[in-house]
Amino acid sequence: MNLDYENVVERVLCSGEEISERVKSVARDIEKYYADSDKKLLLLGILKGSVVFMADLMKELKLPLEVDFMKLSSYGKGAVSTGNIVIKAGLEKKDLSGYNVLIVEDILDTGNTLYWLVDYLKREHGAQDIKICTLLDKPDRREKPIFVDFGCFSIPDEFVIGYGLDYNELYRDLPYVGVLKREVYE
Ligand code: 5GP
Ligand code: MG
Repeated sequence: MNLDYENVVERVLCSGEEISERVKSVARDIEKYYADSDKKLLLLGILKGSVVFMADLMKELKLPLEVDFMKLSSYGKGAVSTGNIVIKAGLEKKDLSGYNVLIVEDILDTGNTLYWLVDYLKREHGAQDIKICTLLDKPDRREKPIFVDFGCFSIPDEFVIGYGLDYNELYRDLPYVGVLKREVYE
């Protein structure tokens, strides 16, 4: 085992305890929002970054709900997403008109991915009520008019890993969110 695995973390931004508290609080907000709705609730997780957050959030929600996932990837130069999104794994259900759709995402950065996704879900799946729940939000980076409805943490413009978020597919398993040391990727 590599004991240096966590040496890439510059500092912890959100500890496991802080995340767990925020997840509980956001779950209460989500329950209140959907309490009186006649529609079914679908939590739509975006792979792979949302899996840890999704697992904790869904256990916390005291509402009848269904879960599905999509895998999206963005074509373009560098690490920043573009508006050119490709579906790597799609939805099982075609018709979402009878659902409240709650997108569950790890982080809202430029907003390009979710801006595209909201439009796609309306256009191709007839979704009418779509809300966005993210673990993290980097509002300084936003390029598209898209907003978090249920968010746990707003963070500065730094590259973070852990609690589902990766660097080159590693570190998703860390039980907290930390800033990646610049020397690792520069
Ligand atoms: P957006 O389309 O909002 O720019 O892209 C959001 C996606 O970019 C996230 O779902 C995530 O996969 C990735 N991303 C953005 N910022 C970070 C970050 O700080 N760390 C990691 N690991 N991924 C990020
Ligand atoms: Mg993602």
